[in-house]
Amino acid sequence: MNFKIPFSNRSHAYTKEEIEAVVQSMHDAIPLTQGKYLKEFEKKFCEYLNVNHSFGVNNATSALELAAQLCQFKNDEEVIIPLHTYTSSAYPFIKKGAKVVWCDIELDTRVVSAKKIEKKITNKTKAIVVVHLYGYCANMPEIIDLAKKYNLLVIEDVAQAMGTSINEKKAGAFGDFGVFSFHSHKNMTTLGEGGMLTVKDDEMANLVPLLRHNGHCSFDFDRNDFWVPAMGNLDLPNLNGIDMMPNNYCIGEVESALGIKLLDRIDDMNNKKRERAIKFIDSLSDYDELTFHKVENNRHNYHLLVAQMKDGLRDKFIRQMANEMGIQCAVQYYPLNRYDLYKKIGLSKADCPNVDKFFDNMVSLPFHHMLTDIEIDEVIQACKDTLNSIRNSV
Ligand SMILES: *Cc1c(COP(=O)(O)O)cnc(C)c1O
Repeated sequence: MNFKIPFSNRSHAYTKEEIEAVVQSMHDAIPLTQGKYLKEFEKKFCEYLNVNHSFGVNNATSALELAAQLCQFKNDEEVIIPLHTYTSSAYPFIKKGAKVVWCDIELDTRVVSAKKIEKKITNKTKAIVVVHLYGYCANMPEIIDLAKKYNLLVIEDVAQAMGTSINEKKAGAFGDFGVFSFHSHKNMTTLGEGGMLTVKDDEMANLVPLLRHNGHCSFDFDRNDFWVPAMGNLDLPNLNGIDMMPNNYCIGEVESALGIKLLDRIDDMNNKKRERAIKFIDSLSDYDELTFHKVENNRHNYHLLVAQMKDGLRDKFIRQMANEMGIQCAVQYYPLNRYDLYKKIGLSKADCPNVDKFFDNMVSLPFHHMLTDIEIDEVIQACKDTLNSIRNSV
C-alpha cells in the first residue's frame, strides 16, 4: 500500500552545519575510526548527561551486549526485563548467560515501576533492565532505591528517551549502565547507526575500550624496541573469576563528528516534539476512545505518540485510517514472549496482564520529527474524522 503519511521515515533532517561537520571529518579524521572525534563525542556526551564514563559504539544493541557482558552472569542468575519492549533490550542478556524473567508494565505510563519489578525479584536476581519506552523516563529514584535494597545492577535502556530527566537528572545517569541509540528512527541519528554506553563503576569502565575494540592494549612491561614482541598486546583482565572475550563494536569518526553537532540541538528537538504531542493530545480530548499519556515536562520526549484504545476499536480504527485517510498507524511492541525466538528457549510464560491488555488495544501514530506542522494537523483531523465515522456506525 502507498500511504500519504507512512508510519516511519527517518527521525530528522540535517542542518547545513551538521553536513559541513561530516564533510570536514571526511577530510581530516586520521584515522577514520577511534580518533579525535570519538574522544570529543564521548567527552561532550559525559558533560551532557553529567556522568563520568561514556563510550561510543556502533549501535545500542552492542551497548546492551557490553552491559550484559560486564554484569558477569553465572549459575542461572536472573535478569528482570520488561515484556513490553524492543527485542534488543532482552536477547543480549540471554547470550551472556542470564536467565530472563519478564516484568509487567504500569498501564498509565507503559513502563516498569519499582512495584512491578519487586514482584519478580528472587534470590537469583542479579540485574534489572529498565526501558524508558516511547520516550518516557521510568521512576528511576524509586527503582534505584529498590536496586540498592536488593543489591542489584541496573541497566537503563535509553534508546528512545535521550535527554529526558527527573529533577534535572537525566535518563541513563541513574543506573550502573545507560544505553543510547543513534539509529535512523531515534531521537538523534548519526547517519543511520550509532550508540553510546555510559558506565558508573570506574573499574568496569576501564574494561570497555578493550571489550569494544578486539582486546587491543599495551604490554605491561617496558620495551627497548617498539615492535618487539609485537606492535601491541591483546588481553583482558579477569573480572570476578570469569575470562572475557572481546568484540568489535566501534563507531566511526564521521558518525562521531556528526554526533558532536547533534548534541547541540537534541534538547530543542525534544522540546518541539513534546509541544506537538501535547497539542495533538489536547486536540483529541473530546474522544475518550483514545487514552494518551500526557506529560508536560522533560520526563517525556514523545519519541513515539501512542494511545490505548477502548476495547475492540483498535483494528477498525487502523484499517480506516489506512484505507480512507492514507495514514499508516502501527502496533508496537509485540510482547516478547509471543515471538518464536523466545518461545523456543522456554520464555513463553510471562504473567504480565497489563502488557497483554495494552498491546492488544494500542495504536502508535506517525510522529517522526520530519513531519511538517501541516502533516501533523492532517493526522489529527484524520483521527477525528475516523472516530466520528466509527461512532456513527455503531
Ligand atoms: C532501537 C532500540 C534498541 C536498539 O537500538 P540499535 O541502535 O538499533 O541497536 C534497543 N532498545 C530499544 C528500546 C530501542 O527502541
